[in-house]
Amino acid sequence: MSVWAVLVAAGRGERLGEDRPKAFVRLGELPLLAEPLRRLDESEWIDHVVVVAPPEWEEPTILLAEEVGASKVAACVTGGETRTESVRAGVADVPDDAAVILVHDAARPFIDDGVVKRLIDALQGGFDGAVPVLRLPDTVKRVSEGVVVETLDRDALMAVQTPQAFVAPVLRAALDGASGKLSQATDCAALVEAAGGRIATVEGDERLLKVTTPADLERARGWL
Ligand code: C5P
Repeated sequence: MSVWAVLVAAGRGERLGEDRPKAFVRLGELPLLAEPLRRLDESEWIDHVVVVAPPEWEEPTILLAEEVGASKVAACVTGGETRTESVRAGVADVPDDAAVILVHDAARPFIDDGVVKRLIDALQGGFDGAVPVLRLPDTVKRVSEGVVVETLDRDALMAVQTPQAFVAPVLRAALDGASGKLSQATDCAALVEAAGGRIATVEGDERLLKVTTPADLERARGWL
């Protein structure tokens, strides 16, 4: 069973306020993208990786993959305007005989093999996809124009992370069918859900911090 990872790194990362795409902001000695590249390459479960680079950053992406010795990188493709378009571009370079596609945000540098194993195990249970989730520590309310509408049942709500794993043909079909509002989806599971797929949840990982703001970047630098 071959497992392909699609690492989406084509976001602009405007909320970081840097002069370059988020994937190329420095984490330690190297750009942020180096960390997930290295970790996916070292994964026991992943056979090949497709990296989705920001437009005009394809060459630095390939050079960085070489620098960290990421020999599983089979292709580097150019990302699109939305995350869904970027995933679509990456999945287009995954061969038809791949069994599982794991989609991961480069913005979550500290991917760990434990979560990858839990996702792959969940797929073996007959699901179309699997996502890592965390419980919400805060009370959650629905708010409209600054006014509370209702308090939601926190126990029924989960924060969802990446990586997310999918049966390859199911993800391809969901991407083909994604149009309108769905093309703005913030994760791939939303596309598979909309197509009627069954998604399992597995235990997430606090270390899968998503770097969005300068404060997140400082935290990630501390963790490194
Ligand atoms: O913007 P946000 O941080 O939510 O993006 C999540 C992930 O999707 C990031 O790793 C980002 O690089 C990627 N992305 C992409 N192409 C886009 C937008 C986001 O590859 N057009």
